[in-house]
Parts: sequence; structure tokens; C-alpha cells
Amino acid sequence: MNQSKLLHDFPVLAQDENGKKLSYLDNAATTQRPVQVLDAVKNFYETENANPYRGVYELAAKATEAHEHARSTVAEFINADHDEVIFTQGTTEGLNLIAYSYGLNFLKDGDEIVISVAEHHSNLVPWQRVAKATGAVLKYMYLDDSGRITDEEIEKKIGSNTRLVAIAQVSNVLGLEAPIEKIVKKAHAVGAVVVMDCAQSLPHIPVDVRKLDVDFAALSGHKIYGPMGIGALYGKKELLEKMPPFLSGGDMIQSVHEQSVTYGEVPRKFEAGTRNVGGEVGLEAAINYVKEIGYDEIIRHEHELIEYAIDQLRDLPYVTIYGEPSDKLRHGVIAFNIDDVHPHDTATILDAEGVAVRAGHHCAQPLMDYLHITACARASFAIYNTKEDVDALIRGIKNVRRYMG
Ligand code: PLP
Repeated sequence: MNQSKLLHDFPVLAQDENGKKLSYLDNAATTQRPVQVLDAVKNFYETENANPYRGVYELAAKATEAHEHARSTVAEFINADHDEVIFTQGTTEGLNLIAYSYGLNFLKDGDEIVISVAEHHSNLVPWQRVAKATGAVLKYMYLDDSGRITDEEIEKKIGSNTRLVAIAQVSNVLGLEAPIEKIVKKAHAVGAVVVMDCAQSLPHIPVDVRKLDVDFAALSGHKIYGPMGIGALYGKKELLEKMPPFLSGGDMIQSVHEQSVTYGEVPRKFEAGTRNVGGEVGLEAAINYVKEIGYDEIIRHEHELIEYAIDQLRDLPYVTIYGEPSDKLRHGVIAFNIDDVHPHDTATILDAEGVAVRAGHHCAQPLMDYLHITACARASFAIYNTKEDVDALIRGIKNVRRYMG
């Protein structure tokens, strides 16, 4: 990893935080964007901006081409077909699309929806609502002491009544990778579809939807160095074709009469209204940026940082790390607490040291309940972080202990 190039690419990182060098360790909340992404968005608005599909003139054709080209880039990146990628605002909208369009229409009283207790609220509340509306039952896979979903738990919870399993590939709190292949195998054996939340995996590991054989997968651009307000949803074409639209209005139709409508083809059936093409182009640039670095290098660098951090945290007897610290399938995230210190105090003291971490329930309150905590602090890493950032974190944690007694 060429750190000086990275720091040049991400100008926001050059600024100070409370008079100290900024150590941005809140990447699981949102990453920073490189100039390549900012330039791509600017270039779209400067040279290609028009409403895609709505005009016959050259500029509109350029906007349409930019929109579809970005879709091809996303599709190729996750190994999907072009028509299996729907642009969304982000993971939350993608998961809601499946809940409303698939869940409400294909689930019924007595069916079971299985999720894990570690899900982000985006992959939990929509399923609570589907369960309430359809009479389906929402069941949880729990974690063992190391923070993992065991084979026994998969066997126990996914059964003959299961119709849908929704699971994050990487938890936004524990950072641990879920056993997706095993879950998919079991779910498909009982005739259930699998929805994978890739918000926290795609920034750190390659995602191959075809190899994993998941039925749906949702991602967010801003977690992978792209703009906010853009994301994508993958769905197997045969499923997308039988699902009704989620939002309706302009662009998603073939023809409309006073009392009838014919919908457009997949994926446009699911893309109502004017699209965020600037965001799509930015997401495409972010993907190209990640591809240029390559996942081998990303994994090597981020795992080195995580190991470096965990080795030092384990020497601090007053720090609890959530999820087995030595787990090799930990990506990007370390959640922790300091004995007798509220995580908001931890984050505030760290901020005074220039270290930006998040504290709270991380939109995973059932997991907090399961861990018997109300909140925790979370340091999360990206390609531009360095060992100096980890050193600042550890120094800051030692100061928290010193100040808080
Ligand atoms: N799923 C997980 C695991 C997340 O970490 C997040 C965001 O933190 C989301 C879903 C929701 O993503 P977004 O807010 O981009 O829609």
C-alpha cells in the first residue's frame, strides 16, 4: 500500500482534529472518498448531466450511457448480470425493497424468516414489519462465545417452514464473517431464499454473488469510498421478474392508461423516478479505485492493522474486545469497551486525541442486549489507515484509563 499516494488521494485526511493529526477510524459508519471519485462526480455534472432515458438529444444519451455503464461496473464487480443490478440509495433501501416486494408478497402466515441476532437494524426492522404484516414468524440465530454462528445453530433455526434467511456477510459490530456458504446450502435445501447484507463486507473482501449463490445482496456506495445516497441491490433475475415493483411512478413503466399499467423490464421496473446518476458514476469510480488497489492488498494491509491493534489491546487488562480477538475472519472492525467507562466518554476522550471512533449501539440493539451491554466503542479501518493511527488509538485508550480512574 503506497501510503503517500493514498494520503494524496484522500485530501480530507490531511486535516487536524482538535489540533492533532486526524486518525479517522470510523470507516464502518462511512469511508472517505478519493479525488478520483470526487472528480468523476464533478465530471458527470460538468459534461454529461441530463435525465437518463427521457431525452433523445445527445446529452441525454450520454447520461443514459453513464447510468448503464455504472450498472455494468457494479454487476461485473460482484459477478452478476447487468440486468440483475438495481440502483438504490444504499443497503437500507435495498433491504426494504426485498422486504416490501418479496416479503410482503411471497410470505404468509406461519412461514419463518431467519436472521441473526447480530443484524444491523436495516436488516432486522424490515423483517419485523414483514412478519407483522404477513403472520410470518421472525426467528434468530444466536452466536457462540466467540461471536460466531455455529453449524448446530444453522441446523436448528433453518427448517422446513423457513422461507427467507437474511444475514450480514460481515457484522458491523463484531467484524466477523458469517458462514454464508453453509447458510445458503441449508436455506436452499428447505426452499428458502437468502438475502445477504454486504454493507460491511464489500469494502474489505471480494463478493461473488454467483459463487455464494445468494438470492439477493445489498450494498452501500459510501462504505466503499463512493458517494452517500447511492447503493445497489442484486437479485436473481427469475426472482426479480416475478416480484412486483417497490416504488412506482415515472421511468419504471412500459405504458400507463387511466386504469392500467404495464411495468418496465427488470431492473428498470424497480427504478422509479429520476436516478442519482452522479452517485452511480461516483460508485463506479470507487469500484475502479478498489480494483486498482486489489483485494489481496486490501486484505493484507487491513489484517496487518487489525492484528497490530488487537495485539496491543490484549495487553490492556481493562479492555474487552467483542468477538474472538484472534479470529482470522475479522474484517475492518474492532468493537471494545473499557472497564467502568461509558463508551461515549471513551469516544470523547479519543476525539481530543484526534482519533475518530464511533460509540453507541451501532444500530444493533438486539446484539447489545445479547452481549449484556448497552453500547460499545468501535474502531473501524480502511485502506488509508496506518500503524500510526493504531498507535494514536492505543495511546488514547491508555489516556482514557488514566483520566477516568
Ligand atoms: N447493514 C450493515 C451491516 C451496516 O453496517 C449498515 C450501515 O452501517 C447498513 C446495513 C445500512 O447501510 P446504509 O445506512 O448505507 O443504508
